[in-house]
Amino acid sequence: MKISFFSAKRYDREHFDAQNTASTFDIEYFDTALSAKTVRLAHGADAVCAFVNDDLSAETLEALHQQDIKLVLLRCAGFNNVDLSAAERLGITVSRVPAYSPESVAEHAIALMMTLNRRIHKAYQRTRDANFSLEGLTGINIFGKTAGVVGTGKIGLATARILKGFGCKVIAYDPYPNQAAIDLGVEYVSLPELLAQSKIITLHCPLTAENTYLIGKSAFAQMNKGTLLINTSRGKLVDSSACIEALKDGTLGGLALDVYEHEKELFFEDLSSEVIQDDVFRRLSACHNVIFTGHQAFLTEEALRSIADTTLSNAQAFSEGKRNGNEVTHQVVDNS
Ligand code: NAD
Repeated sequence: MKISFFSAKRYDREHFDAQNTASTFDIEYFDTALSAKTVRLAHGADAVCAFVNDDLSAETLEALHQQDIKLVLLRCAGFNNVDLSAAERLGITVSRVPAYSPESVAEHAIALMMTLNRRIHKAYQRTRDANFSLEGLTGINIFGKTAGVVGTGKIGLATARILKGFGCKVIAYDPYPNQAAIDLGVEYVSLPELLAQSKIITLHCPLTAENTYLIGKSAFAQMNKGTLLINTSRGKLVDSSACIEALKDGTLGGLALDVYEHEKELFFEDLSSEVIQDDVFRRLSACHNVIFTGHQAFLTEEALRSIADTTLSNAQAFSEGKRNGNEVTHQVVDNS
């Protein structure tokens, strides 16, 4: 099977080549992102392999169909970037990696929380400059605080487990409570209750049409002053313009974003010599109590190995005419 691999980074190549030792798959790597414009690079391939910000709109899928490509291998869990109705209509199978390493994302969310709270980002810069002043670096104890987890699937549960280890009271909102979270001592509450009671809020639910801007003006109005908000899930869960106001009036005491609603134009590239055109991003990143990471929460050795392993198993299953359960259909709720 020939696979055209889009948005390829060095770490992708290393891990996919390591899993493809028998050269079962002929993988051609492209740095460029997949879109209707770049789809012709996949000429002669049997499948394309895509990531979170690749464009799998109806137009791109039509172009893949024209080239007789019948398989899209998503090397991620989320599929909000795929027009599933178009894929089904065109007979294109879409497979994904539903779970690779929940701890990779959970541990990153906690790293962001700790960095924000203890001002590690500021201390790092100061001490490199031989500035050992502690002014402005005061944090709070996480022990005993209430942490709100939105979405208690695989990653939310892994996060709740760590927060419990810190000695937090962990409350959660999820339309489908998870017995493992209840067994851990997590208390389920409504979303308004979670917003009103949490000192720290961490998002671990999928992005759907219904929960776009779940955290926006009205959610901020229900939070206490000084709330810390962490988003390692999907950018559009948070209204980033509303965050600017919430930071200005002190509702948000800190904001950590690994995902951002307009990340497609920014993330995964070195733009250090460019003038960033996104004014919301510029305003947020200028705040001392806002930190960004560029969609790196998944980036651990264990997760990359698991992503490569599952993606190639998905390709293998397809080539043998089998279904292995990782196919995404219109019926599957996007809970990645
Ligand atoms: P999962 O399917 O195991 O769990 C998702 C949970 O969210 C489910 O329990 C579901 O009931 C719940 N949910 C659905 N809609 C909700 C809503 N409106 N409010 C509250 N809860 C809701 O998924 P997971 O593997 O834990 O992944 C969670 C999220 O993490 C995904 O959205 C994914 O996009 C994101 N993610 C980010 C990265 C990264 O690198 N930043 C990597 C992997 C996954």
